[in-house]
Order: sequence, then structure tokens, then C-alpha cells
Amino acid sequence: MPIIQPSFLLHLRHQLLQWYDVAGRRLPWRSQPGEIPDPYSVWLSEIMLQQTTVATVIPYFQKFKRLWPTLIDFADASLEDIQVVWQGLGYYARARHMHRCAITIRQEYKGLFPQHVDHLQRLPGIGPYTAAAIAAIAFNQPVVPVDGNVLRVMARLFAIKEPLPHAKVQLAAHAQLFANEERPGDFAQALMDLGATICKPRHPLCSMCPVHTFCQGAQMGQVHNLPFKAPRPPRPQKYAEAYFFVNEQQAVGLRRRPEKGLLAGLLEVPTSSWEDHKPASFSTLKQIRHSFTHFDLTVGLVYIQPPYIFPTDCFWVPLNRLEQYPLPVLTRKIIEAALSPLNKKA
Ligand code: SF4
Repeated sequence: MPIIQPSFLLHLRHQLLQWYDVAGRRLPWRSQPGEIPDPYSVWLSEIMLQQTTVATVIPYFQKFKRLWPTLIDFADASLEDIQVVWQGLGYYARARHMHRCAITIRQEYKGLFPQHVDHLQRLPGIGPYTAAAIAAIAFNQPVVPVDGNVLRVMARLFAIKEPLPHAKVQLAAHAQLFANEERPGDFAQALMDLGATICKPRHPLCSMCPVHTFCQGAQMGQVHNLPFKAPRPPRPQKYAEAYFFVNEQQAVGLRRRPEKGLLAGLLEVPTSSWEDHKPASFSTLKQIRHSFTHFDLTVGLVYIQPPYIFPTDCFWVPLNRLEQYPLPVLTRKIIEAALSPLNKKA
């Protein structure tokens, strides 16, 4: 890593904090100037914001805080209630991990969040980024949380040409150069805001950027090429048939997924196993597509007509009571498609 002058880092920090004081986003989980940050709110928001936009998270955060104002309320809630309210946020394992995390903090830390990154990282569902974010924002620990936004800002600020993902370690090391006892929480949030509102992935607003004069990428006219990215391999594709049962009482046949793995413990329309190749039947079936983090799934819909043998691992859920159950987006998509009379092929 080239030598970076401490005065450069201090000036840039100062400039960014000044901008943040005026232009930082006012978000419901952030403390106002002079207020002590609430670790529970910081944790809740940071977990919700993983892979999810701020606009989507705000109403969920507000509802969670209304239903469970404190960590202890949250730990005392039932997982099923949490999963029902979580519906639509995706990446459902987060809800399960959060519940386990809250129970662990109640039992092992007397209901108080630990303050240090190492301790935070031992809690369920808290990885290095979230641990650093909680430590910096809630407890003013001098660490810099590094997510995709911060990696992008570092790549541009220092014009780092090594492509992602290989450059992650180098970029994260650059970010840590800014770690400082002075307002670490505000600095972390200032970097987040810079990445989200100014140094945006496609159309960075360099002319409005508070650290423009420090930015080597801008000075070299390389901003739109940074960060460099290694070509991505094509996304894996998977296929399955979904079996749609509906009875005369207008109830749909669902089953609960295993307690471990993808969409753990949530309800699904029963499917065949998810395979890498299209079943031969696919050309005649209505198809529903859904993207998971690491692969795309295409489901072919099979309407099961009576007489049939109802699967022993399934149970009936009235269509007008679906809201009361933890249904992932995939299950909702399949039910909506199945109930839509248009394009019904099978
Ligand atoms: S000058 Fe442009 S590229 Fe550099 S940090 Fe600011 S917005 Fe990002």
C-alpha cells in the first residue's frame, strides 16, 4: 500500500464530517445530534439494510419498533410473529438469526449489547461489517465498517485498479486508515451517506462531492471505470415443478421447509427437488421465476385436480388467512400465479 500522509486522512475526514453535519440523511434509527445512540435501533436497522434499500427498510423498522420497542420485547416475541412481520424483506434467515441474537444478549449479556467488535461478531447473524457498524455507531469505537458502498468510495478515492472481488482486502485496509477516536459513528454514517447519495455506482455526482479535491479517481478521469470488476460467471439456474392443491373450502396445500438452510422454517407450495436441468414437462407449464442470492429458480406450476392423495407433510391454509403465516416471496408469487386465471396452461 502506498504511504498516505496522516494529514491527508485528517483533512478528508474533517471535510466529510462537515458535510455530514449539514447533508447527512435523517433516518428513523439514527440519533439526533447530542442524543445517545440506541444500540437496539442500530442493530435492527443494520440487519434490515443488508441487501435491502433504505426506502424499503424504513416502514419495517418503524413497525418493528412499534411492536417490540426494546431488545427484551424482541427476545420475548415468538419467532413466528417476527417472521410474519418480516414478510417481504427477503433473506429470511436474518429474522431467525436476529431472534437468536436477542435471546443470546438477554441470557448472556444481561440484555445489553456488547460494545467490542470481537464480542459482537460472536453473536448470531452478526458478521464483520455489522459488528463494526454497531461498534462505531452505537458505541463510538474507532473502526470503519466496510460494505459495498465503502469499497466503491475507496476504489475511487485512491484510484485502485485491482479488480473486485480480489481488491476487497486492499480497499478495506484503506478504509481502516480513517479509523479515529473522533466521532467514529458519525464518520461511518458519513461514508455510508457519501456512497449512497453522492458517490453512486452508476452516476456519481462528483461536482457535488465534499471530498472531490482529495479524489484521485476524479483527478485521473477514471471514476466511471472504478471500481474495476472481474467478469462474473453466469448465474446458476435451477428448475422445479410446484404442485398447487386447493380444496373446496378455498384452502391451499402448503408445507413447512426444513429448519435449516434456505427459507428455513417458512411455508412453501410443495415442489419437486430443485434441479439444474429443466423437467421435460416445462414447455406446457406456467412458469414463475425467482432470484436467490446465488442462483435463479424457475418453477413450473402443476395444478393438482381431484381425486388426489394429499401429501402427508402438507396442511391446508385458508386463502383468506395467508397474511397470518410466514410466507416468503417465492411462495406468494406461486400462489398469485396459480390463482390468476389468465395464462392458465395446465
Ligand atoms: S469525487 Fe466523485 S468519485 Fe470521487 S469520491 Fe467524490 S463522488 Fe466519488
